[in-house]
Amino acid sequence: MNDPTDRMVRNIVIIGGGTAGWMAAAALAHRFGGTGTSITLVESAEIGIVGVGEATLPQIRYFNRSLGIDEREMMARTSATIKLGIEFCDWGKAGDRYIHPFGAHGETVGPADFHHYWARQHAQGEAHDFGDYCYPIVAAWNDRFALPDEDPDSPLVAFSYAFQFDASLYGVFLSDFAKKKGAKRVEGKVVSVQRDGETGFVTGITLESGQQITGDLFVDCSGFRGLLIEQALETGYEDWSEYLPCNRAYAVPCAFTDTVGPYTRATARKGGWQWRIPLQHRIGNGHVYCDRYISDQEAVDQLMSTLEGEPLADPKQLFFKTGKRRKLWNRNVVAIGLSGGFLEPLESTSIDLIQSGIVNLLALFPERDCAEADRDEYNRLMDLEFERVRDFLMLHYVATQRDDAALWRDMRNMEWPDSLRYKIDAFRRRGIVPEYTHGLFLPPSWLSVFIGQNIVPKAYDPRVDRMSGEELTANLERIRSSIADAVAGTSLHSDFIKSHGASFDGAAAS
Ligand SMILES: Cc1cc2nc3c(=O)[nH]c(=O)nc-3n(C[C@H](O)[C@H](O)[C@H](O)COP(=O)(O)OP(=O)(O)OC[C@H]3O[C@@H](n4cnc5c(N)ncnc54)[C@H](O)[C@@H]3O)c2cc1C
Repeated sequence: MNDPTDRMVRNIVIIGGGTAGWMAAAALAHRFGGTGTSITLVESAEIGIVGVGEATLPQIRYFNRSLGIDEREMMARTSATIKLGIEFCDWGKAGDRYIHPFGAHGETVGPADFHHYWARQHAQGEAHDFGDYCYPIVAAWNDRFALPDEDPDSPLVAFSYAFQFDASLYGVFLSDFAKKKGAKRVEGKVVSVQRDGETGFVTGITLESGQQITGDLFVDCSGFRGLLIEQALETGYEDWSEYLPCNRAYAVPCAFTDTVGPYTRATARKGGWQWRIPLQHRIGNGHVYCDRYISDQEAVDQLMSTLEGEPLADPKQLFFKTGKRRKLWNRNVVAIGLSGGFLEPLESTSIDLIQSGIVNLLALFPERDCAEADRDEYNRLMDLEFERVRDFLMLHYVATQRDDAALWRDMRNMEWPDSLRYKIDAFRRRGIVPEYTHGLFLPPSWLSVFIGQNIVPKAYDPRVDRMSGEELTANLERIRSSIADAVAGTSLHSDFIKSHGASFDGAAAS
């Protein structure tokens, strides 16, 4: 009888030490450290990392928690601030401003969803801003933060939070964690890849120094170049530029001049959009754009002329093509991070897609033969994740009323994928937001962008009319004032940081 341990993956090799590589190493070392399966990460200091992923989604807290990472320590080591959502400026029309929060609007007041009650009041011209009925939005506008409450009746319970951090420092933090759990780091540049003549599986890599490293399973975290998944295996790339045309960015950090703000900002521009991500010690800024609509010079001038403080480095230019590999797992190579694909950072989804890649890999962790059925299931799940993020990102562009620049006019008139068309039509007709069984963004996220960008349903749920006008007004007013009171009772974000993960004295000072 065969020894079952013969079938086990004994050597896992990760190529790349960016956020993807070290997140993968940390999670794999946490799972396999001390079990006889080795984890080796190869990175090249000469090539370096992309180093710009600074805004995250709340799911990262579950990733850190699953590894037993202490949040305060992580925040202090990465200069992290709190993120309650993303403020979108000028996306619907010039002058518009709304927050996509990590939490729902309103609460249950009757059989229909809250936004239908708000829509009736709005139709009568009596509603306050939709954001006034959402705790994390009001907290963000007021620069305040407190941890979610344990009490299920408190408005502080129905929200989540994420971090804005220095991505390079997060990598260093995770590398310390992974190495403590037994992962081995090898410095060097991969110059060739060996494959099995029969199966096509990758069997090993050779470094510039001549060192050879063999493995059973390879995790390609080599960034945009896709060293194994593309250069060795020629997996192919699905190009989604027709849906999301931005293909370049400039990034630059600057000093603070104003309050930190527990949120990321994305401001629409003539040929793309600009981000502002406040950390404890600086603000990260960037301009994502499409070179068909503005020149590189115009893009960098726009960025530099709108910085709030002194630039702390020269602007760095980045190039990308929106899309994903045809297979994220091909043979015995799993592509995680930029090697697998890239969707512009409008909703801070890249690190989250890295996390999904790792979680799905652990759930379907293979034997040495990497059975086709497991690979297919992994690819199916990851395709859904990517497609749903793509649709949600597109929503911000197509749900615009702007016609002041060619990019915005083209996005308004473009062909939508069927999956997105259905979502928008369903909301426009009668205010429903069909929920996905898989995929990142839940109905509250779609709702905040729809309403934030002036897509108001033609009809609300008729059950709303069973409530009298007085009762409806009283209910909405009660929710609005309880949120305002709850926010008034919390600390300033900067004070919270000082007591919970400050990197240094005066961190996040306003
Ligand atoms: C403009 C922009 C803004 C972004 N903003 C956000 C954001 O706000 N939030 C978010 O979640 N994500 C964001 N991202 C994405 C985020 O930066 C990446 O998902 C994240 O940094 C992971 O990158 P990576 O580890 O896949 O690749 P990289 O950081 O590029 O790392 C690649 C690694 O592979 C190694 N390598 C490559 N070739 C070789 C070789 N031949 N030999 C040895 N080693 C090699 C390199 O040395 C490096 O260690 C942004 C991306 C861009 C482009």
